[in-house]
Amino acid sequence: MAYVICEPCIGTKDASCVEACPVDCIHSTDADPQYYIDPNTCIDCGACEPVCPVNAIYAESDVPAEWQNYIQINADYYNK
Ligand code: SF4
Repeated sequence: MAYVICEPCIGTKDASCVEACPVDCIHSTDADPQYYIDPNTCIDCGACEPVCPVNAIYAESDVPAEWQNYIQINADYYNK
């Protein structure tokens, strides 16, 4: 399992999660619309979730129905 960054990150990109992550698995570039979590590196510690000011981050099992596609969107970012 992994944590997943969903739609609220778009237009926000606060990046507090990047500082909180102990394994440096949250990435983006200026050209990307949001931040993404690498599911193969995430250790499920949960440190990123409470620091997000827009509640964009969920454990994979808790991703709301309307944002289920973000599970794949986060994974695909690292499979380019
Ligand atoms: Fe990083 Fe932990 Fe969040 Fe995974 S759950 S992205 S390891 S801070």
